[in-house]
Amino acid sequence: MNIDTTGIEQIVKKVMESIDFAEENNVPVVDGECGIFQDMNNAIDAAFAAQKEYMKLPLAMRSKMIAAIRETMKKKDHAETICQMAVEETGMGNFEDKLLKQYLAADKTPGMEDLMAEAWTGDDGLTLLELSPFGVIGSIAPTTNPSETIINNSIGMLAAGNAVVFAPHPKAVKTSNYCVKLINEAIKSVGGPANLIVSTAAPTLESSQVMMAHPKIRMLCATGGPGVVKSVLSSGKKAIGAGAGNPPALVDETADIEKAGKDIVDGCCFDNNLPCIAEKEVVVVDQVADYLIFNMKKHGAFEITDKKVIDALADMVCPEGRLSRDFVGKSAKYIAAAAGIDVPEDTRVLIMEAPADHLLVVEELMMPILPIVRVANVDEGIDLACELEHGNRHTAIMHSKNVDKLTEMSKRIQTTIFVKNGPSYAGIGVGGEGYTTFTIAGPTGEGLTSAKSFARRRRCVLVGGFDIK
Ligand code: NAD
Repeated sequence: MNIDTTGIEQIVKKVMESIDFAEENNVPVVDGECGIFQDMNNAIDAAFAAQKEYMKLPLAMRSKMIAAIRETMKKKDHAETICQMAVEETGMGNFEDKLLKQYLAADKTPGMEDLMAEAWTGDDGLTLLELSPFGVIGSIAPTTNPSETIINNSIGMLAAGNAVVFAPHPKAVKTSNYCVKLINEAIKSVGGPANLIVSTAAPTLESSQVMMAHPKIRMLCATGGPGVVKSVLSSGKKAIGAGAGNPPALVDETADIEKAGKDIVDGCCFDNNLPCIAEKEVVVVDQVADYLIFNMKKHGAFEITDKKVIDALADMVCPEGRLSRDFVGKSAKYIAAAAGIDVPEDTRVLIMEAPADHLLVVEELMMPILPIVRVANVDEGIDLACELEHGNRHTAIMHSKNVDKLTEMSKRIQTTIFVKNGPSYAGIGVGGEGYTTFTIAGPTGEGLTSAKSFARRRRCVLVGGFDIK
């Protein structure tokens, strides 16, 4: 029998090449299959070596790689597999909305077009301000957007010339690492270097700590709750912190109440309320409160009116005042069933009136439970919305036709995203203008991060020439 060995020879040649490359750069070859390493130190070494190679390549290669990543992550079978996996692995969110978020991240994350140079010219010559890479960035990703954060950060960070070491949430590692693998395959398919995007097979808090302290990591980016943001900001390194929110939706008497009711329910229910930008409580002027609730009910809200049932629900989702992960990202029907509340089949969100200091109002629940607080007038509403946002500077929504009050709210609340007369997701480019991000950096001020957030500003001065004015 004749066996064609050409394919095998090619594989052996490739392995030998990668061993040579690995030995030169101190990268172990025992792991690192498609960017996934057993050991954090090895992952960092591999990314460090890959970034050096990356710097030698033309910018056209960056564009090709980013185009390939977008295309791969949008492929129907890949996108569906990832979103199904995310729902199954994390037990949170819903498939259809995750699919929308996946396409959003792949399509609307800015690439290299985001990196605009600046120039000064005059008698003394030409000075250029360029955006250069940091090197290797350590990125910590949340459970709530496990694939979207990997896609969004990879595109932005690679566009700026960096390599990325991901520390995914342990409870979303399968989904996150599957994305890392697909991104590596996409990069490889256009001839880009291996291991520009890496992760570890079994991430832990300890491996994140190793990453944060490692001298080869020049920048950190944390997307998650207050703990991880504090952790990266205490690292002594340049860090971007994209932290928690508790977005209020304020409705005044001038608003289009029918539209406000629909928009609030749509925004709140998106991916079972997992997004950090999603409406977490409603503050409404008394005069229009009943009509708003009526309209919310028209769009799938189920109102609970019995105070005892409301308090029992709060105890169930926040036992002893602490948020239970068991209900985060679950559907309204699941939560209602667990609480023994009968709801119609088409229920999308559980709503209830509550006092401003109720646990359901002040906690960032990340589930389709939406408390409603009445206020006497819009001024009281602005005061309360600012209080409930807790100074997170994350997201707020307001439905109003009063330009003065919209302006006042936006000045007072100081959130990174302020959506007027739309659902919260308009703030990340769904039915609203502008690019998308899944890392909204309120605490450190980069805002809706994009490639330029992951670049260093460098000045390059040519004295006495190239002024052609
Ligand atoms: P989380 O804080 O539990 O975890 C986020 C990541 O940080 C995970 O990878 C986790 O392993 C890691 N981590 C947690 N504590 C750490 C520590 N002390 N040291 C090192 N690593 C640590 O968050 P989550 O439940 O996965 O996500 C939900 C939270 O994230 C919500 O508060 C939400 O508002 C926020 N979030 C913010 C944004 C944003 O862009 N601002 C986006 C998504 C989610």
